Amino acid sequence: MAEFHYAVDADGVASITWDVAGRSMNVLSLEGLKELDAHVDAALADEAVRGVVITSGKKDFAGGMDLNVIARMRDEAGDDPARGLFEGVMAMHGVLRKIERAGMDDRNKGGKPIAAALPGTALGIGLELPLACHRIFAADNPKAKIGLPEIMVGIFPGAGGTTRLVRKLGAMAAAPFLLEGKLSDPRKAKSAGLIDEVVDDPVAAARAWVLSGPSIVKPWDEKGYRMPGGAPYSPSGFMTFVGASAMVNGKTKGVYPAAKALLSAVYEGALVPFDTALRIEARWFTHVLMHPSSGAMIRSLFINKEALEKGAVRPAGVPDQSVRKLGVIGAGMMGAGIALVAAQAGIEVVLVDQSQEAADKGRAYTEAHMDKGIARGKASPEKKAEILGRITATTDYSILSGADLVIEAVFEDPAIKAEVTKRVQAAVGEACIIATNTSTLPISDLARAADRPGDFIGIHFFSPVDKMMLVEIIKGRETGDRAVARALDFVRQIRKTPIVVNDARFFYANRCIIPYINEGIRMVGEGVAPALVENAAKLVGMPLGPLQLVDETSIELGVKIARATKAAMGAAYPDEAVDAVLFWLADQGRLGRKAGAGFYAYDEAGKRTGLWVGLGHYTPAAQQPELSEVQHRLLFAQVLEAVRALEQGILTDIREGDVGAILGWGFAPWSGGPFSWLDMIGAGRAVEICADLAARHGPRFAPPALLREMAERDETFYGRFDPAAQAA
Ligand code: NAD
Repeated sequence: MAEFHYAVDADGVASITWDVAGRSMNVLSLEGLKELDAHVDAALADEAVRGVVITSGKKDFAGGMDLNVIARMRDEAGDDPARGLFEGVMAMHGVLRKIERAGMDDRNKGGKPIAAALPGTALGIGLELPLACHRIFAADNPKAKIGLPEIMVGIFPGAGGTTRLVRKLGAMAAAPFLLEGKLSDPRKAKSAGLIDEVVDDPVAAARAWVLSGPSIVKPWDEKGYRMPGGAPYSPSGFMTFVGASAMVNGKTKGVYPAAKALLSAVYEGALVPFDTALRIEARWFTHVLMHPSSGAMIRSLFINKEALEKGAVRPAGVPDQSVRKLGVIGAGMMGAGIALVAAQAGIEVVLVDQSQEAADKGRAYTEAHMDKGIARGKASPEKKAEILGRITATTDYSILSGADLVIEAVFEDPAIKAEVTKRVQAAVGEACIIATNTSTLPISDLARAADRPGDFIGIHFFSPVDKMMLVEIIKGRETGDRAVARALDFVRQIRKTPIVVNDARFFYANRCIIPYINEGIRMVGEGVAPALVENAAKLVGMPLGPLQLVDETSIELGVKIARATKAAMGAAYPDEAVDAVLFWLADQGRLGRKAGAGFYAYDEAGKRTGLWVGLGHYTPAAQQPELSEVQHRLLFAQVLEAVRALEQGILTDIREGDVGAILGWGFAPWSGGPFSWLDMIGAGRAVEICADLAARHGPRFAPPALLREMAERDETFYGRFDPAAQAA
């Protein structure tokens, strides 16, 4: 047996120690569950055993269920997958319920105490298992994270965690842990009631407790149990459930099946006895696992995201390219952010700008960030001094000497960028890679200023740098493997998620997001009610409507990009109708949120107060389109660009296309990304919708050849292009 180890000591305490061979973190597999079950049986059957301690042989308790297993469960559940899944989930409940009942009879007599001893982090099933035990002891380890993060990847705690936590804390108090996946350190987990004790030595404390002859009956197994905060049909319960439904629907707009199912499991479960509630939880959990969204979210947000972070697309055979010294040229909004995240990762940073004042201002961004952290109790003055100490603000390029990587983030002007590249080259050695953070200029063109274009690359950050987790790495025509590997190793150091794409106008993310914004603006010009445009976007899971998004990124920038694109494309430029609205707004001085005026109106504190009434200039048409029509236009504007990027070889890996879309611009996360979404609706249906949209709205919706071919052959993107499946 390889995942749980069993031993009984001289005092009659059985220990079941979770220690999965060959992994640094325990995760539960189906085999592991069987082992756990067998050990529990052995302990309950052995008369010499007086109590049981379940702990871990590693520094943490467990990271959760093996999500690869969950992703496969539906496919491996046989001809009747819903039934197969339900039975599998019920079997898991059986093991945990056995632990909870621990051999008691139906009058709650007999049984053996079982305690959980958590040395560190306990997530997902790593907390659901302890919740089934009779008492939870955790080490006083401030780095440990305790919680149920399942909702973040499109599922919910389905091993009894939902039912137990609600009965333990009440629906209201359990809500942030279940609905938001809130994680706590052990002390906070104790004060919230998630766990019972925080101690120096959890195993010793758990041993002593099981030997002390404690009462082990769970409140919900006692006669007359009442749910804390009240069951649904009580005045306070009523308030909680009405409020929670409104909150969940407000936040998720109804597009995340897991949030709805979780709420249903909690509500319906609260009306019935505990064992029936577990069955209800299992049914809703099965429902979520059967929904394509859960598989797609797990695949993109967990499995593939992690694969990309671990170097799935890193050129083979290039030795470690970690960065010790980084140069950043341009200490503006982006440069200051890059300096901060690099210094936080322990990298020495030289931050260069035209004047000492501008460079200092960039460094002050890190100072302000750390001060905020200190005020929130998340950083210390020592940490601040350490991180700030790594950043040298200067106008002197010679200090860049010895840098492994220099990232340029100066004004978006090819002439200035070329001059900066030359100055950097004169200061650094041959080993240094030079990168640009440009968002619109072709990398291959900028590389002309470099003596060694093979060592020149695009590293495109998103704003704000410290919050946005995606980094888009762009290869110019001549960029070599060493530059790609250095960029990837740097992104790993700063703990962000990379995608690597080829060079083309707007690369990948902006290429897809600009048509989304444009489609929204175009509709306003056509007389579609602006509120319909915005709400349609949110109701399909986009975090921001296109009009809000352009306000946030700035209408002024939109105008600049439109002018530059038109100049580059000449007569082929397709977006005159968009520009008519955009330029009109700019002429009114409505330049976006920063200017306090855009598609939206803002109050003096900069808060949005609603869509600007002046948009009535574009009299809404008497006949408004169907919601689904607006949603299709907004989604296909993005998705077809993603398909074209793949078709043209800009994207070379659909995993990057999906992960990049969700992390880069918030593409409807419930869908798993544009390619996952197309697989859900099917290429055939997608071609049908696009052909119809193209007939009525223009050739930008014409289905690309690749999509038509896939429709004819009845193929899916993950069936045809998934590198992970091909490697397997
Ligand atoms: P910014 O105007 O805030 O900062 C630019 C900085 O570069 C200024 O501090 C300026 O003084 C400095 N600078 C200009 N010329 C210089 C020179 N010759 N030598 C040294 N420093 C010089 O601009 P930003 O928003 O930080 O954008 C910088 C780059 O990042 C641009 O290429 C932009 O396209 C790109 N980018 C911006 C965003 C964004 O959301 N703002 C996102 C991704 C990429």
